[in-house]
Parts: sequence; structure tokens; C-alpha cells
Amino acid sequence: MVRKWAFRAVLGYLLLGLLLYVYLFFLADSTLPDAYKGSSADPAMFMNEREIMLSEEFSKIKNLLFFLSTPYEWLFYFLILILGVSRGFERWARSTTKNGFLQTGIFLFWLSLASFIAIFPLQFISYKISKTYHISTQTFPMWMKDELTDFWVNYLIMFIIISVLYGLMKRFKNRWWLAAWALSVPFTIFMMFIQPVVIDPLYNDFYPLKDQALEQKILTLADKAQIPADHVFEVNMSEKTNSLNAYVNGVGSNSRIVLWDTTLDKLTDKEILFVMAHEMAHYVEKHIYIGIGIYLVLSFFGLFLASKLMRGIVANYKDSIKVSSVSSLSSLPLFLLITSMLMFTVSPFSNWISRYQETRADRYAIELTEDKQAAITSFQKLSKVGLSQVNPPLLVKVFRYGHPTMMERLNMLEKYEQEKKE
Ligand SMILES: [Zn+2]
Repeated sequence: MVRKWAFRAVLGYLLLGLLLYVYLFFLADSTLPDAYKGSSADPAMFMNEREIMLSEEFSKIKNLLFFLSTPYEWLFYFLILILGVSRGFERWARSTTKNGFLQTGIFLFWLSLASFIAIFPLQFISYKISKTYHISTQTFPMWMKDELTDFWVNYLIMFIIISVLYGLMKRFKNRWWLAAWALSVPFTIFMMFIQPVVIDPLYNDFYPLKDQALEQKILTLADKAQIPADHVFEVNMSEKTNSLNAYVNGVGSNSRIVLWDTTLDKLTDKEILFVMAHEMAHYVEKHIYIGIGIYLVLSFFGLFLASKLMRGIVANYKDSIKVSSVSSLSSLPLFLLITSMLMFTVSPFSNWISRYQETRADRYAIELTEDKQAAITSFQKLSKVGLSQVNPPLLVKVFRYGHPTMMERLNMLEKYEQEKKE
């Protein structure tokens, strides 16, 4: 019985992988519609033939890896349940100590290690491909160091969450999800608060802008947008990647705008100011807080659904998945499987919200800088340096794109001027 289910799951995964491969490499259309030929969104206007070919290739491989990795995670959790591995880890933890916290720590360590090893090949392939296409500049030891930092950071955060979550499951048989959600509100805000000052510096170095002349220009812009100026940081990313980026994160006194040093190196001052104005829009329009709000609403329903599903699945299939009760540690892979599936299901919605905010930020930026030329060339450089598709296939956009496609972003800039003339 177990063998049959394990076999079916693996076969199902391989079939899905094949379908995805055929879709992404042969069926999906990422060519530019005729209406955009010759416009600023036409890759032929800012890339040579070889660059266009490489960006198509690189994007297709990255898209395939993206769509393969989430179901791969599900397959891992499913197998670890039905093969009794999760139950084995729990017995191991119980036989080692009587202390509940230590048991959670031991169980979680083995589960995290197993999942790290299982997912490692995909991570490594992804790194190797970025390296082959000259996006990543990290040496293997540097990359591995980040992977291990990831492992321990996730382990610690998971340890806190799981200790509390399984404590609540034991205490409140049916309403644990509500108690867990209530506690997740301050926890989420606290994590957002410490992210830029405690977690991010574990991976990279952050410092105030080095270029004084540029800083002066940014301060003038920040003044125009009424943003306190001490919230702008530069991060040393050039030792890891060639691609460009900037972002806003943190809450309250720790909220900040961060520019990758690659962005500062490869863009002109005017282009940087446009990118900066875009990030300022996120800051001014409080997109982080709106994001936290939406996340908390979604997690309320998500936890409710997860509790119902867990109860139902454990009640009906406890022998197949080898989990004695919802509150026993061995049910953790089931909880992670369900939450991962729910998150994947709502990702088209959360991406859509994000794309809406990004469109607003683009509009704000062009209105603040009124520099269409710099806006266009900054977007073109962004896609060229990152080898990204200007017009990705529909499924890729729906599941993967938190930003509008470059075709949409550049088209907005073109239209903006027309609207202004009217
Ligand atoms: Zn943005």
C-alpha cells in the first residue's frame, strides 16, 4: 500500500515536470506582440541577438526550476509522512529526552536536515545556472555559507514557531488555529521590525550611501517626497551578483530604502533617481503595512483551513500517514504540506496585489522625476542585466511575477506622456 502510494506520487511528480517542460519550452508564447515591435519594450531595441537568445534560455530554465521546486517540496513532505520517516524522527526525539522543548529541537533538526538535503540538488542547479549565465558572481564556498546561514536562521525561527504552535495544539484541541493566529500578529510585526537590522546583516553588509554627490541628489528627491533621509542604505551585493535591485523593508524606526551597489554602479544618476523615486512610492504609500495587513487576513483563513484539513486527514488516514494525532510532532510535515499548498493557491492573488502596488510605484516615480528617458533606459538595463523576459508566458506571470512585466512597465511609461498631452 505504502509503496503503491509512494510510486504514484513520484510518477505524478515526474509527469507534472514533463508537462511543465513542454509548456514552458514549446507551447508558451513569450514573443512580443506586433504592436510593440520597434517600441522601447522591444528587446531588439536594447539587446543584441545573442543577449536576446540568452535571456530567453535563462528565463525558461529559471521558470521551469521555479515550477518544479514547489511540488517537489510537497512530494518530500508526502513521502516523509507515508514512509514513516516523520514518525521515526519523533520516536528518536522522545527516546533521547523527556524535555518537551528539547524533543521539539531534536525533531525539528532532523526534519530540517532531511529537507535541506532533499532540496539541495535543486538549489545547487539553480546556483550553477545563474553562474553559467554570469548572473551570480558567488564562489561555491560563499554560496554555501549563505545556504548554511539560511539553514540556521530558518531553524531558529521555526523552533520558536513550532514550540508555540504544538503547545497550543495540545492545549486547545479545536481552536488552536485562532490562538496561533492571534500570537502571529505581534510576532509578524516584530520579525518585520528586526529583519533589516538583525537578519539581513547576517548575509550582506549595509552602510549609508558612499557617493556623496549622488546622496545629495537623492536627499533633494526625498525632501520632495517628504521622506526622512536617514532611511536610505546601500548594500554590498556586487560580490554575489551582477543583477540590479532596490527595495523597501522594515517597519517603524527600522523602515528603510535599500539600493544594491550593483544598481549604483551600472545605472546613471538620473536612472538611479528614477529607481529611487519608485522605492520612495512604496515608502510613502505604506505598501509594507498594507502587505502585512493582507498577510494577516489571509493567514487567519489559512490557519482556519489548515486546522480543518489536518483534523480531517489525521482522523481518516492516520495509519497511512503514520501520525497518531494532530498535536503529535510527527504531523509537522502535514502542516507544512498544507500551508505550502494554500500559499501556492493564493500566490496569484498576492502577486496581483503586488503588481498593482508596483504599477502605482512606477507611476509615482515618473510623476516625481518627470524623466521619461531615464525611466525607460533604467527598465531596459534592468531586463538586460538580469536576462529577464520582457513578455513572459501567462502562467509565469500569474504565479511568479510580483512586478508587472517589462512590456507592461515600459508601455505605461510610453502612455504616460500621451495622457499628459491630452
Ligand atoms: Zn517596487
